[in-house]
Amino acid sequence: MKEVNVKLISMVLVLVSVSIFILFKTDKNALVVALNKKNNISVKIEELINQNLDKELIRNENFNDKFVYLEFQKDGMCSSHFVDAKTGEEKYFLDYIKEEKREHFQTKIKDLLYLKYPNFIADILSLEDSQKTYQILQNELYIFYDNSTISPKVNEKLYLRVDYQEIQDCLDFPVSLGESTSFQDGYTYDKNKKSIAFTFDDGPNGEKTNKIVNLLEQNKAHATFFMVGNKMEYGKETILNVLNKGNEIGSHSYNHKNMKRMKIEDIISDEEKTKETFYNITGRELIYTRPPYGNINQKIKESLNTIFINWNLDTEDWLHRDKNYIVNYVMDNVNDGDIILMHDLYDSTVEAVEELLPKLYAEGYQVMSISELAKIKGKSLDAHSVYRSIKAD
Ligand SMILES: [Zn+2]
Repeated sequence: MKEVNVKLISMVLVLVSVSIFILFKTDKNALVVALNKKNNISVKIEELINQNLDKELIRNENFNDKFVYLEFQKDGMCSSHFVDAKTGEEKYFLDYIKEEKREHFQTKIKDLLYLKYPNFIADILSLEDSQKTYQILQNELYIFYDNSTISPKVNEKLYLRVDYQEIQDCLDFPVSLGESTSFQDGYTYDKNKKSIAFTFDDGPNGEKTNKIVNLLEQNKAHATFFMVGNKMEYGKETILNVLNKGNEIGSHSYNHKNMKRMKIEDIISDEEKTKETFYNITGRELIYTRPPYGNINQKIKESLNTIFINWNLDTEDWLHRDKNYIVNYVMDNVNDGDIILMHDLYDSTVEAVEELLPKLYAEGYQVMSISELAKIKGKSLDAHSVYRSIKAD
């Protein structure tokens, strides 16, 4: 019995010491590994700081032991780095988007880019290999883009603000959600930018009108179309398309006659006919009138209860029928608050619009309808008055 007890006790002793030894060794190893990792992380951070000595270190933050976020700034430009909190390796922002959500995330960003920017910009920014910088803020993510390959070259900083509410299910790290703020789309016009109105006369004109409507849509622009009453009946679908895309329509008389040579009662009854035709198609009222050839006098002004819209920049597109002429004329003469006259009748005009819209955007212009221009300039337009441009006081 005694012998058995001694054997048992020694066996237990041996087992305990082996366990302690194993435990100790494992712990020690774990400690060494942890120390190395910690060193890797701090070495990496130091390395990044040294590489960016010309910039100011704005943030050095550990995100829930997932990654360390370093942000540098210089001349208002931000650059960011992500250091993995486990390995100390430098990673990409996209590494912290859940793998199964990466495609969803990219699609979301692409959608937001096309909501905010004209296609010629969004096409480039949404390319996978476009140069971007991710900035992580309290409630939102900013993505800054390098716009060097966009043509025409855009003279503004290109970026996207993404509320975490929109992407929280994609993020592989915790964020705080602020109050949901609506996303600013490209049709939220900016008071501080230059603004002009495009106007197209003599339609509706089927395919050409619709082509212009598409170009406006692709460029986050709107226009006012002054249509001829007797053509409206044959262009119902075109009219509805123009309106559905956020543009507006004004009267361009019923028969395109020179009002100065008409009897006042005929002018009044023709205008009524135009208004009625338009109302029957759309259920809306016409509030603007552009007299044919811009011809107007005091008597006509007093007789018609409408806001008269003429122009201050005449492309003479009907005369030149030349895309380059129209583009150069507008780019050489355009100013904030201008109303530009064109006609949705000619291929050369459609081609000019296609080239003009990106060029104007690149130069900082927003192209809009008469009502939008009046609103952004803080002007209320009066009936019986003629406007040739709409400028702030
Ligand atoms: Zn006309």
